Amino acid sequence: MALYVYKFGGTSVGSVERIKAVAEKVKIAQDLGDQIIVVLSAMSGETNRLIALAKEMQSQPSDREMDVLISTGEQVTVALLSMALHELGCAAVSYTGAQVRILTDSAYTKARIRDIDDVKIRADLDSGKVVVVAGFQGVDENGNITTLGRGGSDTTAVALAAALKADECHIYTDVDGVYTTDPRVEPKARRLAQITFEEMLEMASLGSKVLQIRSVEFAGKYNVALRVLSSFKAGCGTLITYEESQMESALISGIAFNRDEAKLTITGVPDLPGIAFKILGPVADANIEVDMIVQNIADDATTDFTFTVHRNDYDCAKAILEGTCIELGARKVTGDNTIVKVSIVGVGMRSHAGIASTMFKTLAAEGINIRMIATSEIKISVVVDEKYMELAVRALHAAFELDKVTQEG
Ligand code: ADP
Ligand code: ASP
Ligand code: MG
Repeated sequence: MALYVYKFGGTSVGSVERIKAVAEKVKIAQDLGDQIIVVLSAMSGETNRLIALAKEMQSQPSDREMDVLISTGEQVTVALLSMALHELGCAAVSYTGAQVRILTDSAYTKARIRDIDDVKIRADLDSGKVVVVAGFQGVDENGNITTLGRGGSDTTAVALAAALKADECHIYTDVDGVYTTDPRVEPKARRLAQITFEEMLEMASLGSKVLQIRSVEFAGKYNVALRVLSSFKAGCGTLITYEESQMESALISGIAFNRDEAKLTITGVPDLPGIAFKILGPVADANIEVDMIVQNIADDATTDFTFTVHRNDYDCAKAILEGTCIELGARKVTGDNTIVKVSIVGVGMRSHAGIASTMFKTLAAEGINIRMIATSEIKISVVVDEKYMELAVRALHAAFELDKVTQEG
């Protein structure tokens, strides 16, 4: 008898009919004799609707109250699925994160799971029930409801699979696997039969929202067999694995992009030890995450310093930097919140030279100006103007022949 964790995303539970369809699917699996834990998201659009409601009350609502509010979306779907299963004659029980006791830290809206109490779930599974758990949420040690960040139901599913040593964790969504890039931007994108944890982690952290970053971290750390599949059509999806693909010719595996970027530059900064800290320290103190950083030496003993932040933090970071500019006697602060980051990812980069130059040549041929570059062992990211995003993704997809990826599985 195998134990599976099935997670269904917002679109997959977006209506009464779709919840009924999920129930049918779960019942078939249970009838085969397997033990099933189901993790659900809220109905599609529901979390956004709740956030918008909160903003009507207060421009900056308290994070604690936000979590009490936005965790409710998942409570609705788990109860409805449990009812749908009962209707099919299938024993099932639903739990919120707090009822299971998915213990998290107290970082409201971005909490991390510390521990999962498996006693109740085990007892229910052993008595033949399907266990339906609300994704995206937990409880801190003081009994406060917490949420795990947008897309956090993926992490609930993988964490449950790790805690209960499930045989596989299936993430059912509205695409039938992980693609070479977001198929909404490049219709020629191809499904990958498999992708390594390392590559998936880069793709997720560089903007591919098909899996939440933390779910991939968790799966890698606890060696959870993780598969992304379609809720709507049969197929074997994409396996996230430690094995590198047999396709030796693959230079890169995928293209990720992030529209939420903004960049800030401070010029004419006296080039002295400690300057990076003086610039970025106050930004970090305001809880603003900095992504790419570039420092250039000018020849007059000054330096120019550019970094990127999330677009939501742009105004705040700019105001802080303007203060720093006066304090340091720097020349000026400029910024741009209409930029995006496009990245190519692949373990193939380790063994192939010339990938960066192919990337830059391709963008140049399209007349796309590169504003910043960052590299690591298995990725190259560029910052470009947002109007070029789709063009950059499609041109790179063609240049690296990702439309020719063969689907093995
Ligand atoms: P769910 O609600 O099921 O969690 P998400 O919207 O969070 O679904 O994730 C699925 C979406 O991720 C797809 O509809 C697709 O547009 C997007 N996506 C981004 N990058 C990729 C990629 N490389 N492969 C597949 N889907 C991707
Ligand atoms: N409902 C949450 C969100 O929209 C969590 C999830 O869907 O994974 O972000
Ligand atoms: Mg998601």
